[in-house]
Amino acid sequence: MNIKGISLFSGGLDSILAVSLIRKQNIDVIGVTFETPFFTAGSALKAAKDIELPLRVIDITEAHLSMLKAPVYGYGRNMNPCIDCHALMLKEAGDRMNEEGADFVFTGEVLGQRPMSQTRQSLHIVAKLSGYEGLIIRPLSAKLLEETIPEKEGTVDRLTLADIQGRGRKRQMELAREFGIKEYSSPAGGCLLTDPVFARRLKDLFTHGGDSVRDIKLLKIGRHLRLSDKTKIIVGRNRDENEAIEGSADSGDVLVQIQGIPGPAVLIPSGCDTETLHKSAAVCARYSDAPKGATVTAMAKWGSETWTFEIKSADPEKTAELLI
Ligand code: SF4
Repeated sequence: MNIKGISLFSGGLDSILAVSLIRKQNIDVIGVTFETPFFTAGSALKAAKDIELPLRVIDITEAHLSMLKAPVYGYGRNMNPCIDCHALMLKEAGDRMNEEGADFVFTGEVLGQRPMSQTRQSLHIVAKLSGYEGLIIRPLSAKLLEETIPEKEGTVDRLTLADIQGRGRKRQMELAREFGIKEYSSPAGGCLLTDPVFARRLKDLFTHGGDSVRDIKLLKIGRHLRLSDKTKIIVGRNRDENEAIEGSADSGDVLVQIQGIPGPAVLIPSGCDTETLHKSAAVCARYSDAPKGATVTAMAKWGSETWTFEIKSADPEKTAELLI
C-alpha cells in the first residue's frame, strides 16, 4: 500500500527536515501552505521547488480573518493568535487528507521551540482543536511526544523520527548536513501579525469596526493617522506608496493632494465631512515640501467631483500625536 503524508510546509528549515525524515521512510509527501493578507506562500513555493515537493497553496483569508477577531487562545506579543492559527492550518491540511488520499498530516514543529505555540500542552491543544488529533505527527520531536495512530499502526516508523526539543538549532544543522540541505530561509516566517506597527494598526481597525480584506490590505501602505472615531487617513511616504494609494481609491473614498508642491497622496477611506477633509488636507500639507505653517492649495477628489481650497499646513507635533 502506498502511504502518503501531508506536510504543513512553511519553507523554513524545520519543515524541510520534517519532509526529509518522512520521505526517508519511502512515504509520499504532498505539501500544503497557506495565504492570507498577513503572510504569503513565497518562501514555501521556493523551498518546495528546491526539494521537488508537490505543493498546494490554499487561500484561507476568510476563515483566518474570522478566527483572528476572537481567537480562543488569545494573541501572542502582538496580534498573532498562533495557537488558533496553527489549529486552523492543521484543520485545513487535515481536510485535504481525503481528497489527496493521504494517511496523516505532519509539521516541522519542535517541542519547546516557541514559548506560546510549541509547548507540549500547545501542541496537544492545536491537534485537538484541529479535529485530527492522533493523525498529526511532528517528526522532529516525535520520540518525545505521545505516539500517534500511524506510528501505532506501523505505517510510520517512530524509531527513525527525531527527538529534538528546545530553541537551539544545533540538531537541525546536523540533520540538514546529513540530508545534504544547504539552502533554506530564516525560521522567522514573515507574518505581519507579529509586527508591532502592523499589529497596532490592525487593533485600531478592529476597534473602529473595520475588517474587510481591503481595509487590511491598506494597513500595509503609508502612515496611518486617526482623526476621529469614524475617520482614519492614510498618507503616502514615497512615490510607490502614493501610486498605490491613488490606485486603491474607490468611488466612495476621498483623495487629497497639494497642488504645485511635491508631497503625499492622502486617502480618506469612505469619505468624510468638510471639517475632516480640511484636517486631512492640513496633514497632507504637513508631509509635503511646503514650508512649516505655510498656506497651500489642496485638491480633493471624491468620485467624479474634484475641488480645490486653501489650507494651512498642520503643526508637525500635533500631527505626530495622531499617528497610529
Ligand atoms: S506567526 Fe502568524 S502565521 Fe505563524 S502561527 Fe502565528 S499567527 Fe499564524
